[in-house]
Amino acid sequence: MVQPATDRIGRALVLLGDQWNLLILQQAFFGVRRFSVWRDTLRVSEAVLAPRLRSLVEAGVFYRRPYRDRQRTREEYRLTDAGLELWSILVAIWSWEYHWVPGRTDELPVLFHELCGEACDPELACGVCSELVTPRDTIPHRSPQTLVRDATPPRRFRRSGWDSVADRPELFFPETMAIIGDRWSTALTASAFLGIQRFSDLERELGIRPSVLSQRLSQLCGRGILERRQETGRRAVCYRLTEKGFAFWPVFALMVGWADRWFDDAPRTLRVEHRHCQRTFFPVLRCDRCLVTLERSQVQFARSEPHRPTAASAPQLDRRPSPTAR
Ligand SMILES: [Zn+2]
Ligand SMILES: [Zn+2]
Repeated sequence: MVQPATDRIGRALVLLGDQWNLLILQQAFFGVRRFSVWRDTLRVSEAVLAPRLRSLVEAGVFYRRPYRDRQRTREEYRLTDAGLELWSILVAIWSWEYHWVPGRTDELPVLFHELCGEACDPELACGVCSELVTPRDTIPHRSPQTLVRDATPPRRFRRSGWDSVADRPELFFPETMAIIGDRWSTALTASAFLGIQRFSDLERELGIRPSVLSQRLSQLCGRGILERRQETGRRAVCYRLTEKGFAFWPVFALMVGWADRWFDDAPRTLRVEHRHCQRTFFPVLRCDRCLVTLERSQVQFARSEPHRPTAASAPQLDRRPSPTAR
């Protein structure tokens, strides 16, 4: 169960910083609702799948609905309103992997915006004033030690058995998981977005052992997310986001926005303000071609031709009307 003391973003990070949960959600948007279908599609063991579905129900992302299977009543899992809103985070993860992870452009499908008929590249914008938003356009207001202690995944979620998806590139987000699939990497990337850059500041803010900090920082540098810089005229070393690291911002911003909206019963330790309109940042994705805010019902993934998709190559995001289970 979710700990009541855990803050909003910590709860979202625990939930979404898990490869299997992301894959289960991805398949749910492609229409999967039944345990056996996830098990067979993802080739995942019941021991891995069952606790994850349970946690997604507990978090309010799925609700259970009975159905008749021959003489038995079984339950299927449907996305709630909160779950349906996660589509934009999955789209942002797709976009980042597509553009920044070598080799992914050929493996991943393209996103088509049906409204304008173009293959599109989603851009992060403010839902209040419609301006494009980068991390530099925002002011984080945070309480001490945001995002860190609370982002520890439960023991049952420690990774295992990724082999079943590692050979299927469309089902695998290796670089994304290097950033959000682990407590310290998540905390370090989040800290970078919040402007905490010095080794000593990170050590103090995160309460992390220097040896662990060094190791995690060098991993993130090795993946090209952070870069190490010596401050001019000082001995202090700082770690800054690279262009690739900055490009992950939409995923992070959308997660904060989603957590704010759906975990509003948990303490709020981070509020992001948009400088331009001075309001709390409400992140949305917009089409880079027609500049209209993307709606789940108006986008689809396809290999090439948007209008002649096949069932296998052009999964559509789930278009059912929003259920009202929440
Ligand atoms: Zn704004
Ligand atoms: Zn468009």
